Amino acid sequence: MTSLSFPIHRRPDPTPLDRIAAVHASPGFGTHFTDHMAVADWTTEGGWSGDEVRAYGPFSLDPASAVLHYAQEIFEGLKAFRREDGSIWSFRPQANGERLGRSAVRLALPPLPVDAFMASIRSLVEVDQAWVPSADGEEKSLYLRPFMIANEAFLGVRPARKVLYCVIASPVGSYFASGVKPVSIWVSTDFNRAGPGGTGAAKCGGNYAASLAAQTQAAASGCDQAVFLDTVERKWVEELGGMNVFFVMRDGQIVTPELTGTILEGVTRSALLQVAADRGYTPVERRVSIDEWRDGIASGEITEVFACGTAAVITPIGRLAWDGGEAIINSNETGPVAAELRAALLDVQFGRADDPHGWMTRLV
Ligand SMILES: *Cc1c(COP(=O)(O)O)cnc(C)c1O
Repeated sequence: MTSLSFPIHRRPDPTPLDRIAAVHASPGFGTHFTDHMAVADWTTEGGWSGDEVRAYGPFSLDPASAVLHYAQEIFEGLKAFRREDGSIWSFRPQANGERLGRSAVRLALPPLPVDAFMASIRSLVEVDQAWVPSADGEEKSLYLRPFMIANEAFLGVRPARKVLYCVIASPVGSYFASGVKPVSIWVSTDFNRAGPGGTGAAKCGGNYAASLAAQTQAAASGCDQAVFLDTVERKWVEELGGMNVFFVMRDGQIVTPELTGTILEGVTRSALLQVAADRGYTPVERRVSIDEWRDGIASGEITEVFACGTAAVITPIGRLAWDGGEAIINSNETGPVAAELRAALLDVQFGRADDPHGWMTRLV
């Protein structure tokens, strides 16, 4: 396998620094994009080629491109953090590269070697380093979005013989504009996200498309997001549309649903299991039923519930609602354990704390 280096071809007209500063002052989430993107092509005959970093801009896509019809697509999400000394780091990027490879296998796309994945994000962050915001006393960072699409122009149903890999980047602020605030969650019983043998463990756009109707129903019921149950017994808690879920128990256990093949294995999830153990909690991976969640809040056995993922790190869950009832968790406030774990992980990510597990990789 040839190794890809993603050579940089700088655009002649980069965004002036004062305009970047204006974006950094109020970045939002996923609305502004940097000056460049990393791309590579793959064909069955030639393998990977055409790797480069070039000016950000639209693709020319044949209307028959397979991705537009059969959703043969996968993606990743990770962040680049600027430290006070100006250096730029990423949190466990190899884990994202490995997960992209597993998602590729499931979606019958060509796995990109992890060293090529690393080269793609290094080159992009190198050329667009001015776009990586300072933490700013907040949680600002550069969100990286690698993705892969089938772009063979062919309407037959089989794995595409032509594929495009791309990485784009977007400066992001704190997910919570005015401080961490608990969200409300709707228990989705009309819609499922993933079934056994399906694509639930892969990070693919199709899973997100399938979650949107539940999301709409959650919003119509006054909730921020939906939580999905398993499709077989329809009682085991799986995850939100794009975040894993954790329960804090009165006795110091930190419980998250075990990986069953229908849950996406979050990088944040696995890091939090370790951070919890480091801080004296007992991390547990096991099945949790929706009845245990409801009854545990009522009995006080469950003291906090939170969701986690790269974008928001930890999002407390303050209210659980379902067809016919609701339960308030921890007085609808951010709990001490969620706050503690969130701060601990952010401190590692921004280089404010030791990194005993070697999670940080310097990019620039
Ligand atoms: C990306 C994602 C997560 C969170 O994964 P992280 O690696 O922690 O960002 C959780 N669930 C789903 C369905 C996801 O797509």
